[in-house]
Amino acid sequence: MLKGRVALITGSTGGIGRVMAEKLAAQGAAVMLNGFGDAAAIETLRNRIADEYGVAVAYHGADMTKPDEIADLVASTERELGPVDILINNAGIQHTALCEDFPPEKWDAILAINLSAAFHTTRLTVAGMKRRGWGRVINTASVHGLIASVEKSAYTAAKHGIVGLTKVVALETATYGVTCNAICPGFVGTELIEPQIMARAAETGGSREDGIRALLAAKQPSLTMVEPEQIGDIVVFLCSPAASQITGIALPVDGGWTAQ
Ligand code: NAD
Repeated sequence: MLKGRVALITGSTGGIGRVMAEKLAAQGAAVMLNGFGDAAAIETLRNRIADEYGVAVAYHGADMTKPDEIADLVASTERELGPVDILINNAGIQHTALCEDFPPEKWDAILAINLSAAFHTTRLTVAGMKRRGWGRVINTASVHGLIASVEKSAYTAAKHGIVGLTKVVALETATYGVTCNAICPGFVGTELIEPQIMARAAETGGSREDGIRALLAAKQPSLTMVEPEQIGDIVVFLCSPAASQITGIALPVDGGWTAQ
């Protein structure tokens, strides 16, 4: 379905982003990987996706807090793979603390990676999508783009911000064959929530599994983690012709969290 398309996925060396990259490659898209991690492991991932799906796969280690590196990421994608047709703004970090205890440098980093980076990648790619008459911008927001939780001031502010950015870009691209949507997952079992799991485990005096159960019981009515594969399949759906009239939405994928 996506043969000939080029997808840039930020934060795709691990977690949800890696699965998104694989799902898009499986549909025939060339993919640009981005993120941190062990160089050899990233090279193995790059080769495996290329071999398994027969598509071009590149990697760029841009730090998403740095606008000049983001510009280089986009330029490298265009040089190595071609113009960006599918932009997935997925890189994200978390830090939890009460507002009065929140380290200002953590606030700045969360706003930079989880929000401003998406502005930069979008500003650098969306004109080309409009010119070519086809494009997909998909932002990994969170349930925290729609509602709040204690100790997540920066994350909630950034994710609410990216839902707002999503709506504006959707309006500005609506007549150009370009859509822009946000996906709002509840808890997904990745590295990002590991500190929260372990904090719950410590609170309950139980195991890591007890920590997971407590975390889900507090927020996610399905009592089941969202799978990265499910988010990846939703990304593929949003790139499909069936979704060409879906734009500007913030789609909860949260086991009922935001229905409460
Ligand atoms: P993860 O920690 O497993 O992966 C994050 C990815 O981002 C990694 O590839 C990492 O190297 C990369 N990254 C981190 N800082 C970076 C930086 N400065 N520059 C470039 N890359 C950077 O996390 P995840 O759970 O896969 O998170 C992906 C997205 O999903 C994030 O935006 C996160 O907020 C969102 N999300 C996650 C959950 C969850 O429960 N895990 C829920 C809702 C939303």
